[in-house]
Amino acid sequence: MKKLSVLAIGASLSGGAIAAPAGGDAARTLVIHAGAVVTIPGEEPLGPTTVVVRGGRISEILPGHVERPDARSIDLGNRTLLPGLIDTHVHFSFSPETKLWSAAINTAEDVALFAFSNAKKTLEAGFTTVRDVGSDGYSIHALRDAVNDGTVIGPRIFLSGTSLSIVGGHGDMSGLNRKTTEALYPYDYTGACTGAVECALRVREAAKYGADLIKITATGGIMSQQARGLGQHLSDDELTSIVTTAHGLGLKVAAHAHGGAGIAASVRAGVDSIEHGTWLDEETAKLMAARGTWLVPTLGLLDGRKTSDASPAVQAKMAEARRVAGRNIRLAVRHKVKFAFGTDAGVSPHGQNARQFRLMVEQGPMTPMAALRSATVDAATLLGQSDNLGTIEVGKYADMIAVAGDPYRDITLLEHASTVIKDGQVIRHEVRAP
Ligand SMILES: [Zn+2]
Ligand SMILES: [Zn+2]
Repeated sequence: MKKLSVLAIGASLSGGAIAAPAGGDAARTLVIHAGAVVTIPGEEPLGPTTVVVRGGRISEILPGHVERPDARSIDLGNRTLLPGLIDTHVHFSFSPETKLWSAAINTAEDVALFAFSNAKKTLEAGFTTVRDVGSDGYSIHALRDAVNDGTVIGPRIFLSGTSLSIVGGHGDMSGLNRKTTEALYPYDYTGACTGAVECALRVREAAKYGADLIKITATGGIMSQQARGLGQHLSDDELTSIVTTAHGLGLKVAAHAHGGAGIAASVRAGVDSIEHGTWLDEETAKLMAARGTWLVPTLGLLDGRKTSDASPAVQAKMAEARRVAGRNIRLAVRHKVKFAFGTDAGVSPHGQNARQFRLMVEQGPMTPMAALRSATVDAATLLGQSDNLGTIEVGKYADMIAVAGDPYRDITLLEHASTVIKDGQVIRHEVRAP
């Protein structure tokens, strides 16, 4: 096997060599020659194709190998070009190594830089867009804005900020003594709320300070230190208030929900997506399909996590969840519930997001084509970004990756993106060594 090397072209995360012609329109034009192009996941790929990028957007898609003198070009040989991947459930502000007491040690500046390093891993793995669904404070807001204005290079981020939760729920801080908790997490600064009025206030605060969506923890959570189970936490009144207020402000609601009653209550209240959906049942799956509620399955989020490392409260919940792993996606496929790719990276390691594709294909079961759609076309729809993201079409953002082979035949190819392009910038490009 030939050795691979990684070339960084243009502006790069690692500060690689600039290989673009200097100045003028040509510097902003990129020509990509690919052996095959999956323009719209779910449809048959095109054969040898040239994709031209101008000003960060796709401007032309031409059959064959077309040259553009003076433009930067990259030749993917016989590799397949496909849309950049989207993970709709990540947490850049923490990782599996983050400790309960990290908040007492790390500053917001530490968290911002840590989040940037996680964003870098994610982008290099081929995920050009993410939804960050739960991070304390405003570090991710700062990262999103810095990416958008070009200060740093990272995946485009849609974020919720702090999750809305009951007092002592999954989105609130548990496991520290009261004095420490109140010092680190003053009540008004958390997403905890009680009653319809206060929950509406939290939604408006999140909107005021720049959230792109609202995240709620409708039920208990597995990895938090609260021992109040995985059942419904926010009341029906609170859920309805949150959804009505958020939708009135043009924001979607993503509901973390494990227990069956909490999933059903969230769906009835009108949330846009159920995150996890661990104990989804037939009846609620049918309701989700009828209402168009999305499932973000977060398969494999506990893989590689040792139960014995967790506290007793968490151990019990991990064991329960492991017993029903895969049930959510099986029911979603069976009842034609819409689903979007989302991993819960942060709980699982950053940069390994693409491992979920294999689990989706095995546990759905579903075709690789359907799994790929969930991380492109379908995820873009959930984000409300179908005009900009999810396919390789003229006018869309030039977010693309390349893999060595046909991802419709082997979904695990997505674990090894050889080229990553975002906004027309070549983030990484592997070429075969001479
Ligand atoms: Zn969750
Ligand atoms: Zn999560």
